[in-house]
Amino acid sequence: MTKVNQNFLKLPGSYLFSEIARRLAAYTAEHPEAKMIRLGIGDVTRPLAPAVIEAMHKAVDEMGTFEGFHGYGPEQGYDFLREAIAKTDYAARGVDIKPEEIFVSDGAKSDCGNIGDIFGTDNVVAVCDPVYPVYVDTNAMAGRAGDFREELGKWSKLVYMPCVEENGFTPEIPQEKVDMIYLCFPNNPTGTVATKEQLKAWVDYANENKAVILYDSAYEAFITQDDVPHTIYEIEGARTCAIEFRSFSKTAGFTGNRCAYTVVPMELERDGAKLNALWNRRQCTKFNGVPYVIQRGAAAVYTEEGQRQIKETIAYYQENARVIREGLTAAGLTCFGGVNAPYIWLKTPDGMGSWEFFDKLLKEANVVTTPGAGFGPSGEGYIRLTAFGDADATKEAVARIRTMLGR
Ligand code: PLP
Repeated sequence: MTKVNQNFLKLPGSYLFSEIARRLAAYTAEHPEAKMIRLGIGDVTRPLAPAVIEAMHKAVDEMGTFEGFHGYGPEQGYDFLREAIAKTDYAARGVDIKPEEIFVSDGAKSDCGNIGDIFGTDNVVAVCDPVYPVYVDTNAMAGRAGDFREELGKWSKLVYMPCVEENGFTPEIPQEKVDMIYLCFPNNPTGTVATKEQLKAWVDYANENKAVILYDSAYEAFITQDDVPHTIYEIEGARTCAIEFRSFSKTAGFTGNRCAYTVVPMELERDGAKLNALWNRRQCTKFNGVPYVIQRGAAAVYTEEGQRQIKETIAYYQENARVIREGLTAAGLTCFGGVNAPYIWLKTPDGMGSWEFFDKLLKEANVVTTPGAGFGPSGEGYIRLTAFGDADATKEAVARIRTMLGR
C-alpha cells in the first residue's frame, strides 16, 4: 500500500481563517442587513500601478509575435528583473547583492516553505510566537517539528521565541542551540520591527553557531522610520548567515500576479556546501520560472513612474494604519505596530480573550478582525487589524469600535 507522509496527518486543521469564516457566516445569516467591514484580511485591495499594467500589456503583445515570444524562461528569473532588484532594492541602500544571488519566484510563501528542501530534517528550528503559520506548518510537513501538542498549541521539537510586550515584540536569543531561525520584520502579525542592534545580535549568534537566519521581509516597503533596517544585509556579517525573502505582493499589489524573490549570498556555506548552489539546484529541478509577462510587470515597479505609483498606494495603506492606530489609541486602547507595517496589533481591553473580543467586534461593531491567538499562544489577548482596506470603511470601522466601547 502507498504510504502517505505521516507528518501531514499530524497537522491540526487550519483552524484560524476557517473559524473566522464560520463565525462571520453564522452572524450574517442571522443579520443579513449588517454592513460588515473587514479589517481581518491580509490581502491588498488597491489596483495595480499604471506603469505595471502598461508593461504587462506590452509584454502580452510581444508574446503574440515570433520575435517577442518567450517560452520557458530562466528558472532564476530574467536578468532584466534580477538586475533591477539588485540596483534598486540593494545597491541604492549601499548593500552589495549580485543578480546571481537573487532568485525570482512566484511568492514569498512558496519560497519560505520550499527553502526547507535544502536543509536536513534534524535541524532545530526556532520560530517567533506569534508567527506567520507557513514557517511552522512547512517544517511540520518536513518532519522537523515533532508532534503537535494540542493542550499547549505547540509542536514538540520547535523552539518558540515569545514576542511579547515586555521584549518589544522582538525575540530573544534562545537558551538552547538552534540551527534554522525564522525572523520576519516588519512583522506579521504584530506589525513591529527590529533595530539594527537586535538584528546584529542574531547575525552574530548565527555566525558563531553556524545557524542560518531565514529573514522574511515581505513588508519592507512599509518601513517609514529612517533607522529601521530594510534588509538583513545592512547588518555586518549577514552575508555568511542569512537568506532573505522579499515579495512584490504587498510592495506593489502583486498578490494576484505572483512574483517575489529570495536572496542567497555566495558566501553562505553550511556543512561544506554553498547554499546558493543548493537553492539553484532545487529551483531548477522543481520550478520553471515566473511568467515573462509578470516579470515585465515587476520590472516596471523599478521605473521612476512605477516607484512613484507604488509609493502612492503604500501611502494610502499607511494612512489607514495611522487612522486605526491613532483612533484606537485615543479611545484608550493599546496598539502596537502600524508605523512601519500594515498591521496593528491591538491589546484586547479588560483582559478579554482574543476570540471573545473578536466576537464582540463582530456582533456589536460589525467589524471583522483576526484573533491573535490564531498566530500562536503568545498572541492570546490580542487581535490583528489590517490597513489594506478602503479608507472610508477603515474610518467607519474605527468610529464603530469607539462607539461600541463608549469612548
Ligand atoms: N511572508 C509573510 C510574512 C506574509 O505575511 C505573506 C503574506 O501574507 C507572505 C510572506 C506571502 O507572500 P507572497 O504573496 O509573496 O507569497
